[in-house]
Amino acid sequence: MRQSSLVVVAMRLPIDDSVAPDGACEWRRSPGGLVSALHPLLRQTPATWVGWAGGSGPAPSLPDVDGVRMHTVPLTLDDLRDHYEGFANATLWPLYHDAVEQPEHHRRWWEAYQRVNQRYAEATAAVAEPGAIVWVQDYHLQLVPGLLRALRPDLRIGFFLHVPFPPPELFMQLPRRAELLRGMLGADLVGFQRAQAAHNFAQLTTKVLGVSATDRRIAVDDRVVRIGAFPVSIDTAEMSALAGSPEVAERAQRFRRDLGDPAHVILSVDRMDYTKGIEQRLTAYSELLASGHVKVRDTVLVQVAVPSRERVGQYQVLRDRVEREVGRINGEFGRVGEPAIHYLTQPFDRAELAALYRVADVMAVTPLRDGMNLVAKEYVAARVDDSGALLLSEFAGSATELSQAYLVNPHDLEGLKQGLLSALEADPADVTTRMRAMRAHLHRYDIRAWARSYLSALDESGSLLHRLGGPA
Ligand code: UDP
Repeated sequence: MRQSSLVVVAMRLPIDDSVAPDGACEWRRSPGGLVSALHPLLRQTPATWVGWAGGSGPAPSLPDVDGVRMHTVPLTLDDLRDHYEGFANATLWPLYHDAVEQPEHHRRWWEAYQRVNQRYAEATAAVAEPGAIVWVQDYHLQLVPGLLRALRPDLRIGFFLHVPFPPPELFMQLPRRAELLRGMLGADLVGFQRAQAAHNFAQLTTKVLGVSATDRRIAVDDRVVRIGAFPVSIDTAEMSALAGSPEVAERAQRFRRDLGDPAHVILSVDRMDYTKGIEQRLTAYSELLASGHVKVRDTVLVQVAVPSRERVGQYQVLRDRVEREVGRINGEFGRVGEPAIHYLTQPFDRAELAALYRVADVMAVTPLRDGMNLVAKEYVAARVDDSGALLLSEFAGSATELSQAYLVNPHDLEGLKQGLLSALEADPADVTTRMRAMRAHLHRYDIRAWARSYLSALDESGSLLHRLGGPA
């Protein structure tokens, strides 16, 4: 077995033809973002990426991708049902997002979660050279750091959680809370999107495991585990360049014409997920139409809602509710050739998305809870002329950095309506000042800066990064 000095471990491999367990093509952007962030580093080492390649049954052996070795982990249909759809997406996902839907607890799901995490840990142990750096990603693999440390105490192990980490009152509901915390504490560095998440984690380790913890360091066994916030970002330069290209500018003009050349275009782009606040946003919009504050001829709402996790019951129910409501609003307020809402469920590619971002005078990103929300950052990166108002939920991780957005509490219907109106009617000079500040931030703190800050914190001695001349 070929071994590497840098190993990235994620549920999925960063390859395009991998499909979700339910057969639907899922968005590839987060792993895509991760791979572009790490690419310069991954290529030099040479590194290995450990993950699932899609499908069920024996793991295919894959060629290197851009000089990065692909090490596949096989998953069966039972693993996918009980680990991915079950424990990851019907227990942890809702619990970590404020329990806006009820998390389900099943012993069979937990067994699958342990089994699958063990398989990832063993696969990683086999490909990591002595003293290698291993970076484990996200809530599907929370036990991997602990399991891997038991197999390979020589490794330097990092764990990064892309989703929120909940307050103790919620996390305490988990029947296997102690095991999950111990799993994460197998890492040398546990990274979160927000400082609040690191604080929640520190409090929980003290409460559940009785260890001594601050928001920066946790003493466990004879080791110190460091924790901290490392907000993930996007490839700002790439999105800006794409959005600024003549093809995308031309596509944006066509979109605007096809929408009937309205005075205002509002855009929302979400995965169809109950955390995204789609229903609350539709209610706010419908009330603004009913009160006459917003008129169909002047203003158009484009709602992209790409279905995901369609075999999880809560997602089917949500889709039905959203579609009924969109139908009602269009029936009640639309005119022939002038729907109130342009509702689209097919995924857009990068260039089309960039064109949509350029068309949107107001971008409404109003999740009830979101680890980061990359769409908000992509919109800012795409506004190459410094125009455009970002309406942003204070419960999205990105609100910490994009504090110049028009911030709203999506649970407050009146506040949401007022926020939408303020964004629609904002003084262009104010919009520009805010957008400029947010763009400057994202140019400084892009995905490469994120990877650099995390990896240099993990690689305290600096030996790997030094040898490679830094990850950027
Ligand atoms: N996305 C896409 N095509 C679409 C809609 C979304 O490629 O039609 C991408 C979008 O550009 C973003 C990602 O999907 O990079 C969504 O990430 P976000 O953090 O906003 O939400 P998540 O889906 O991870 O909860």
